Amino acid sequence: MFLTGSSHRINQHIMSKVNLDTLIIGGGIAGLWTLDRQIERGLSTGLVESGRLGEGQSISAQGILHGGTKYALSGIVPTGAREVSAMPKRWERSLTGACLPDLTHTRVRTPQCHLWRTDSVRSIVGMVGAKVGLAVTPSVIEPKNRPEILKSCPGDVALLPEQVIEMPSVLETLRRTHEDRLLHGTVQSISKESKGGYTVTIMAHHGSSVTVRTNRIVLAAGRGNESLLRLLEHIPASARARPEMQLRPLHMGMVRGAPEALPELNGHCVDGGQTRVTITSSTARNGDRVWQLGGRLAEEGCKRSEEAQRLESMSCLASALPDFNAHSEALTWATYRVDRAELKTRRWARPDGAFVNGFDDVITVWPTKMVLAPNAAEKVDALIEQTSSDDGTCSTPFIEQPTPVVASPPWETARWS
Ligand SMILES: Cc1cc2nc3c(=O)[nH]c(=O)nc-3n(C[C@H](O)[C@H](O)[C@H](O)COP(=O)(O)OP(=O)(O)OC[C@H]3O[C@@H](n4cnc5c(N)ncnc54)[C@H](O)[C@@H]3O)c2cc1C
Repeated sequence: MFLTGSSHRINQHIMSKVNLDTLIIGGGIAGLWTLDRQIERGLSTGLVESGRLGEGQSISAQGILHGGTKYALSGIVPTGAREVSAMPKRWERSLTGACLPDLTHTRVRTPQCHLWRTDSVRSIVGMVGAKVGLAVTPSVIEPKNRPEILKSCPGDVALLPEQVIEMPSVLETLRRTHEDRLLHGTVQSISKESKGGYTVTIMAHHGSSVTVRTNRIVLAAGRGNESLLRLLEHIPASARARPEMQLRPLHMGMVRGAPEALPELNGHCVDGGQTRVTITSSTARNGDRVWQLGGRLAEEGCKRSEEAQRLESMSCLASALPDFNAHSEALTWATYRVDRAELKTRRWARPDGAFVNGFDDVITVWPTKMVLAPNAAEKVDALIEQTSSDDGTCSTPFIEQPTPVVASPPWETARWS
């Protein structure tokens, strides 16, 4: 066959072979943070992403760097609350560039959230108290200092020093930092080597095959971990070693309008021991402001149709925000469904903290919350005994390969009406 210059290059790609210490599969916040940590440690590491970075959970996350207040509201303090309470400070160190990953280019939407009630029965500070020794606690603000949209709320309005970050921007920052270590491709097979380690065959998204020989694999593919674990079923391991996954569904609401019609608002409306609705603000590509509506509204919304959830979002905001006109013609509404992928627990309860499990040089990660990604990366690190790269660190394992892009946020793909 006559080979032109370009087909010759393709031929070279077909024969592509890469040696790594660690191959991470899945490029959401957990995979990208783990990649950064392994590189900092001096291990030769690459990441393969089959779709777009953060597709599924991370791009949909509301971006709240929780410090445990949610746990305190319900009065039930799981073990994981301690891990969460250390996270806002850990993120702060990255957001200010004091620590890797360097997230100084990440957009912080607000340094603090509001917390308010729909009735005046109990005070917010009394409810939250110091039940879990929170690193961040709310402080009630004077009525005259409330934002316009919260002026008529009957109960306390408090400020909670939990930052809200822009998820597309944190994913883009990590993508740019590690571009040459990211591969856009689909894992086709995983086989165990007799001398230890794995050979992973990947179909890159420009159609050529890449063979990766790696000492270990980190599964950080969110809901995709389930099928990846199935790919490993032919490799003997005790049944107990393989973790199982559960999905907890959400049906999120969204409302959108010009910034004059929809003010910036980030926070939780609290009712009893639960967040009735969590509102975070983003800016769409055309300059519109978008509110994402989560909390109990989204959890209970799974049973509702799109139309019913749209109507419920309107009535929820009308009662959570007395000064908000949910029927304004300047606003449009949408919903989207998304599942949270987690370790399987009894009765589908939320796991306590970040889950990381290792068997036979395969490490499975479900961070449970975006804010726990640093904690998950450290737990992965603790399972790795290797101290330095065998072949010297390869800093650009996938330089000639296609790079995945960051997923589009839900407000750019939703149907608005
Ligand atoms: C609506 C919503 C709001 C949330 N808000 C918050 C919040 O405010 N604060 C907070 O702390 N947490 C929040 N969370 C939780 C948080 O988003 C998740 O815990 C976190 O993003 C999970 O990250 P991940 O990297 O494990 O998974 P994902 O973000 O799902 O990433 C998995 C990645 O793996 C890729 N992948 C899948 N299969 C394969 C495969 N076979 N091969 C290669 N790649 C694959 C996917 O394309 C994706 O890029 C929210 C979750 C949801 C759904």
